[in-house]
Amino acid sequence: MPIIPELARSHAEITDWRRDLHAHPELAFQEHRTADFVAGKLAQFGIPVERGLAGTGLVGTLRAGSGARAIGLRADMDALPIPEKTGCGHASTHDGVMHACGHDGHTAMLLAAARHLATTRRFDGTVHFIFQPAEENECGGQVMVEAGLFSRFPMEAVYGMHNWPGISVGEFAVRPGPIMAADDKFEITISSRGAHAAMPHLGDDPIVAAGALIADIQTIVSRIVDPQDAVVVSLTQLAGGNTWNVIPETVTLRGTCRYFASGLRPVLAATLRRMADGVALAHDVQVAVRYYKPIPPAVNAAAPTELAARAAMQVAGAEKVHRDLPPSLGCEDFAFMLAARPGCYLWIGNGPASEGRTLHSARYDFNDEILPIGASYWCRLVEMALPSEPPAAGDQ
Ligand SMILES: [Zn+2]
Ligand SMILES: [Zn+2]
Repeated sequence: MPIIPELARSHAEITDWRRDLHAHPELAFQEHRTADFVAGKLAQFGIPVERGLAGTGLVGTLRAGSGARAIGLRADMDALPIPEKTGCGHASTHDGVMHACGHDGHTAMLLAAARHLATTRRFDGTVHFIFQPAEENECGGQVMVEAGLFSRFPMEAVYGMHNWPGISVGEFAVRPGPIMAADDKFEITISSRGAHAAMPHLGDDPIVAAGALIADIQTIVSRIVDPQDAVVVSLTQLAGGNTWNVIPETVTLRGTCRYFASGLRPVLAATLRRMADGVALAHDVQVAVRYYKPIPPAVNAAAPTELAARAAMQVAGAEKVHRDLPPSLGCEDFAFMLAARPGCYLWIGNGPASEGRTLHSARYDFNDEILPIGASYWCRLVEMALPSEPPAAGDQ
């Protein structure tokens, strides 16, 4: 596989970076040490850095040639609130926090690519290296966009990459159109007068109302949305009451809607409200629906996706770049960047999704084998997206 030889030679050093980041994981918007690490490396490579975008976020900018075109490459930096159980030598030294999604590897790969590109400069234009905070749950990507990422750092396209357990080492997967799903949260609060458990007729029962609503919600996917649309509506939390002999005054339900077609958001939000109103009427309770923290689907644009696939093929070979895998109903806040600029999000194989190798598992560890593969992809992508002028006739 044509990994860039210089990146293969620095594999051990990139692995050290990755393991250092792994041992010092930081939660969303608290990536201070990580940001210091990234800023320090970029400064060593001679790449100017702007810090403080979305708090701990930072952007390094590298120019070569005289071209006016620019692209962005994005890595995420945050960890998860999971107590690590890998038992590995570079395990987390921060209690209850671990890099269980491989953002340590993403950061290390982008740093390695930045160093190589700063050394070789075989491109014409500008590359912005975007190190994003708070991908997990806190939408740092959205905060960066709202903080002026694309106005302060103009770019024609933006690219992201995530390691993917279940895809073999040395392979990639990418597709145009939606690749990750929308993720809209909802919270439903059912309020009533409550009652003595033995005298329900003297009050109202939010638990029975919740049961009816839970059953109704199951019909959204089966009877409301087009069967051709992939949609998940999952109820994930149910809370109410604290003893045997009291019918409580409130019950709270929480859940998430996942889908690929952006037009489904108003349909799902309105349907949940209509079902809530129906249950409120039928059971004589109050039902409030909060539909919030929506993340759009991550939608790859056609031309950047074709370019990304060709760059991946340069590294892995055509037969190792899957173009036909189904999208994931997981979500990704890179979607906010893709909504603002054309671009492409691709998966790099992290090896088998065997025990301990699945994302967000307490036994997960980023596969260091793939560090030079991902870094090589970033470099080839830049060289193909911003090609240098062909040498003039007679030049050597
Ligand atoms: Zn994650
Ligand atoms: Zn992740």
